[in-house]
Amino acid sequence: MEAKAEEQQLSQAYGHRQVGQKSLLQSDALYQYILETSVYHREPEPMKELRERTAKHPLKAMAISVDEGQFLNMLLKLINAKNTMEIGVYTGYSLLTTALALPDDGKILAMDINRENYELGLPIIQKAGVAHKIDFKEGPAMPVLDELVKDEKNHASFDFIFVDADKDNYINYHKRLIELVKVGGLIGYDNTLWNGTVVAPPDAPLPKYVRDNRDFILVVNKALAVDPRIEICMLPVGDGITLCRRIK
Ligand code: SAM
Ligand code: CA
Repeated sequence: MEAKAEEQQLSQAYGHRQVGQKSLLQSDALYQYILETSVYHREPEPMKELRERTAKHPLKAMAISVDEGQFLNMLLKLINAKNTMEIGVYTGYSLLTTALALPDDGKILAMDINRENYELGLPIIQKAGVAHKIDFKEGPAMPVLDELVKDEKNHASFDFIFVDADKDNYINYHKRLIELVKVGGLIGYDNTLWNGTVVAPPDAPLPKYVRDNRDFILVVNKALAVDPRIEICMLPVGDGITLCRRIK
């Protein structure tokens, strides 16, 4: 069977939507209604520009959805976030929504192994006048986190941390991030519903990449669900985001 046809069949069977699909809602019409009624016309111009630029990139499906961007922007304002972190930048759509939400002296430590994709979005971020809030580090996030954890002054110093990178490391990131986020602060883990495959039967014929990451997500979801140091809220926005509020 051709790869595309196979993917389509799997998608129908297990709710693993096609690349580019940005909602877990049952009806595409309902999702479209949300976007058209309350999202698109309120999307800040630089975000629209960045979204359109990203749409021309082969890995465009990696970016968070437009409604998730709107959600994160409001969330960051509600919690008065000032010192934040992002693991997994890609072209910077979630980074820009964060940067726009923070006060002028707000900070984002942003990490990605790929600088080239970040540089696609960077001119738009600069034009939006928020690039000064961003400290971009190219390379794997883990060594940076290990360095941060070594210094006690970084402990409990972040208001918000968005994790949207290598799913196999979410569980390892969590061990470090729980030290770095403030008590009362938030960590957001993205893609925790993994296109609905978290409920696919164990023997479902999923593509290897989907299955492997689904398994990592299942492990992290289980761990977060019983972690006494946090309160959690799993939201079906985008591909699922689990918000973890540190309570001790
Ligand atoms: N948040 C981004 C957005 O809204 O456009 C999407 C991020 S994309 C899903 C995941 C990113 O994680 C990729 O750009 C990839 O290069 C990056 N990544 C993968 N492994 C990483 C690692 N070990 N450390 C840091 N970044 C990593
Ligand atoms: Ca994501």
